[in-house]
Amino acid sequence: MNFQNAAFESASGRVEQLPPSSVPEIVFSGRSNVGKSSLINKLLNRKSLARVSAKPGKTGTVNFYRLPECRLVDLPGYGYAKVSASEKLRWAELVEGYLNAGRNIRLVVQIVDFRHMPTQDDLHMIDFLVQAGLPFLIAATKSDKLNKTQRTQQLDAYCTLFEELPDTLLIPFSAVNGEGVEEIRRQIELVCMG
Ligand code: GDP
Repeated sequence: MNFQNAAFESASGRVEQLPPSSVPEIVFSGRSNVGKSSLINKLLNRKSLARVSAKPGKTGTVNFYRLPECRLVDLPGYGYAKVSASEKLRWAELVEGYLNAGRNIRLVVQIVDFRHMPTQDDLHMIDFLVQAGLPFLIAATKSDKLNKTQRTQQLDAYCTLFEELPDTLLIPFSAVNGEGVEEIRRQIELVCMG
């Protein structure tokens, strides 16, 4: 698959605005500021197709990017404390509405910060994915910020945390040095072409 050929397709702020489910979809989920836009841009070898910012906070829209074989779906980030209750509700309606719509979702790339254990919100999302029966992998980003000892510690801690989900793939990732890019691309190819 050629990951360089992505183009922005559309953005939906409400469930009613979602495009019809036609092609296989690969979904990207994570709390705001985790590094989701950076990961998508790195996969697509682009500087700024998905927005990257140092400022978290926009609950935003579900953004769709088109590749010839599939769609990449960028869910709005969650877990930003300063968001109002009504915005949180809108987020939940939009994201659950999208994930529960019986679409052709082949894989969810759930992004966490490798320097830390998953947040409560991350764990809620993972639980939701398990309950919904959606296939997912965990991309543990910002791996470049860990030294060797910290990396081993975090790998151990994540393995213990996900002991009950032994088939879950954990992929250390860095948008800075490119670790994990090929592995995530390979997983996307497997589910899109298979
Ligand atoms: P988003 O809100 O989840 O889309 O997060 P962004 O992609 O905008 O990234 C948030 C911040 O983390 C930015 O300052 C990025 O430069 C930084 N960042 C993202 N990924 C990495 C990474 O792999 N390593 C390092 N060191 N910084 C990263």
